[in-house]
Amino acid sequence: MDYVNGPGRNHLFVPGPVNIPDQVIRAMNRNNEDHRSPAVPALTKTLLEDVKKIFKTTSGTPFLIPTTGTGAWESALTNTLSPGDRIVSFLIGQFSLLWIDQQQRLKFNVDVVESEWGQGANLEILEEKLAADRSHTIKAICIVHNETATGVTNNLAKVRKLLDEYQHPALLLVDGVSSICALDFRMDEWGIDVALTGSQKALSLPTGMGIVCASPKALEAAKTAKSLRVFFDWNDYLTFYKLGTFWPYTPSIQLLYGLRAALDLIFEEGLENVIARHKRLGKATRLAVEAWGLKNCTQKEEWYSDTVTAVVVPPHIDSTQIVRRAWKRYNMSLGLGLNKVAGKVFRIGHIGHLNECQLLGCLAGVEMILKDVGYPIKLGSGVGAACAYLQNNIPLIPSRI
Ligand code: PLP
Repeated sequence: MDYVNGPGRNHLFVPGPVNIPDQVIRAMNRNNEDHRSPAVPALTKTLLEDVKKIFKTTSGTPFLIPTTGTGAWESALTNTLSPGDRIVSFLIGQFSLLWIDQQQRLKFNVDVVESEWGQGANLEILEEKLAADRSHTIKAICIVHNETATGVTNNLAKVRKLLDEYQHPALLLVDGVSSICALDFRMDEWGIDVALTGSQKALSLPTGMGIVCASPKALEAAKTAKSLRVFFDWNDYLTFYKLGTFWPYTPSIQLLYGLRAALDLIFEEGLENVIARHKRLGKATRLAVEAWGLKNCTQKEEWYSDTVTAVVVPPHIDSTQIVRRAWKRYNMSLGLGLNKVAGKVFRIGHIGHLNECQLLGCLAGVEMILKDVGYPIKLGSGVGAACAYLQNNIPLIPSRI
């Protein structure tokens, strides 16, 4: 049976949900509390202040919403836009596809800019659209920073530069679900109006909290946006922020204490060190893939993702079998290929609370599985390439120096 316990720890290498640090698990192992007592607002106040640091914003207003990334998308859209509004949205993989589906179901006029899966957002087409839009009919640009299905990271600084060049007032709405707190992300510097993430990704918490951050311009847009919203209405949050009680409804106490512990761990390591660690993990994974003689689904280096690598398998191999075998034989969880790339790629998630030796365990497992499914691989080739790079580049653990 697939679902019985395996020996040792499951090697969880899907690109979210990710491993939860022991410190976070311990912090969450507690009773419920009255969220109207003075303690919970005091805790919430520190969280709202500190969470801004992972977005790199001082002017943004964060919302901690009991939801997932999908709900965070809806919160971003419905608070800032009205039905019929023209938005430009990039389709580059399964998650951008799902977001576009939500945008269409919410009745926006979605101008879809599609790229081949494995490529980044087509910014040349964006430039054409901005240049042609003299009357500013485009109300928002929606972009997934890191497309988790293909391992493609988009260049948000370039998007901002284009908007500025054409002095275009469109809002910039960014899905940072598999990037924020792992990849370089600068909400204020890149003029992002709404940025969002989910707790089960780089923050390494259980699923269940959508974290959305709105710029002053987005809050202004919310005053006239006509999309129907109730549960996700930022206004309800802002009312309770003013009262100092913070919560329009009952928050998960355990998740709040978990978020406190997660942020403390991130700040102890240092956000820049966390980002540098993800760079090493991404690079080491790509070196292994290259040594195996396999291709990265991401077509150009400029789009390489440091949180997830989608590995293309040869046509005679079904990547789903690789993922199944990982689970059945090695107690390891790899990411499936989704939709257009189903059967063609498997994904190695290297996001969140994870270190280099853990990744090496995953790479060793992948090598054995590749051999299992008949791929001609020299065992140790990828692990060796990753080790050669890591051994030269892993710094001392910041808190132990
Ligand atoms: N956006 C991206 C980039 C994702 O990777 C995911 C999930 O993996 C989502 C959105 C949807 O998030 P959730 O499953 O938490 O609703």
